[in-house]
Amino acid sequence: MGSFMHLLLRRLAPALALLSAGAAHAQEPAPTPPGFEACLGTLAALARERGVPAPVAEGALAGLTPDPAVLSATKTQAEFVKPIWDYLDANITPETIAAGQAKLAEWAEVLGRIEAAYGVDRHVLVAFWGVESGYGTVLDNPAIVRPVIPSLATLACGDPGRATLWRDELTGALTILAQGDADRERMTGSWAGAMGHTQFMPTAFLKHAVDFDGDGRRDIWRSVPDALASTANFLKNSGWRRGESWGLEVTVPAGFDYRLADETTERTFAEWQALGLAPAGPGSFPDGADRRATLVVPTGARGPAFLLEPNFKVILRYNTALSYALTVAHLSDRLAGRPPFTRDWPRGDRMLTTEERTDLQTRLEALGHPVGGADGKIGPKTRAAIRAFQAGSGRVPDGYAEAGLLEAVRAAPQGR
Ligand code: CA
Repeated sequence: MGSFMHLLLRRLAPALALLSAGAAHAQEPAPTPPGFEACLGTLAALARERGVPAPVAEGALAGLTPDPAVLSATKTQAEFVKPIWDYLDANITPETIAAGQAKLAEWAEVLGRIEAAYGVDRHVLVAFWGVESGYGTVLDNPAIVRPVIPSLATLACGDPGRATLWRDELTGALTILAQGDADRERMTGSWAGAMGHTQFMPTAFLKHAVDFDGDGRRDIWRSVPDALASTANFLKNSGWRRGESWGLEVTVPAGFDYRLADETTERTFAEWQALGLAPAGPGSFPDGADRRATLVVPTGARGPAFLLEPNFKVILRYNTALSYALTVAHLSDRLAGRPPFTRDWPRGDRMLTTEERTDLQTRLEALGHPVGGADGKIGPKTRAAIRAFQAGSGRVPDGYAEAGLLEAVRAAPQGR
């Protein structure tokens, strides 16, 4: 889990709006549950221990009540399952491309200086900006954006499974207040505390935010230069390689052994070329023995294939979802005038529910393909187990989990 959870916020925005409407309708303020005030006292003490002056910590936490919409949001996220193309389709449209290109023109001079200082391509930075906040438009939406301190206090006291994370973020937010970069009114964010144009969590802000416009404050809420340079600094500090791309779409030859698309094996572009891979669009593979890439097929052999360079992993540091990183990556290409993917997604496929994913994992284990515990999450181990099942039953071993695969696994004879 990365430190950025704003992605879920954007998916949940309509749900949050409904919850807010419901709360307004009820009129009665929810009573503060017993224990919340005591919890706030503990949080203020923790903040003081970590160097936040007592008046700042106590002033920010005094009299807060838990925000029910924030707690509901934490409970909704696990069930959200969308196909990868939904996320790309929603974020990459003629409108978002045109809006991003207008921002590239408007901020060209600043972006040039940011590129020179941090080595991150301007199209990538503007793509993050678009995906994170619609180039800042979301920041004015009161149904989505709320004060960060009450949200994080609600989470630190009401989401025991991740209390440590939320406590760290809350003390981070209080530290930002104490340092004077923002005041409580300005320090707004998603329900999970992701803030500003490019949605930094407070601890990430403290490590990576910069004052690029030189006014003495790191203001990722109102200063576009500060927000974009902070993102560039985050990426640079996370290992971004100047002058390299995130990767590219490739064509895969008939009869290719999809077990090589195992997400982890790095090969040089020359090695991939020798295996029959080629750029799907215009352009050519980068030269050089130091340029290596992994092959990823997000929806298996019937969808687009990608060779991913190390910079793609840096995008994943912002948000660990493949759908997110591919959206940022592809939007950056489209902003630069490059074409859409040549191959479409298998849009007729149905994604599995959490229950079905758990059933799939349990059945794969029963068939002798270990998944490392059935947790309802399809990770590298489960995809390896799927490839083993597929290879053993005459299917293309691409590791892709969807409804058709589950049917095949359910129909497979038990016993090894
Ligand atoms: Ca500034």
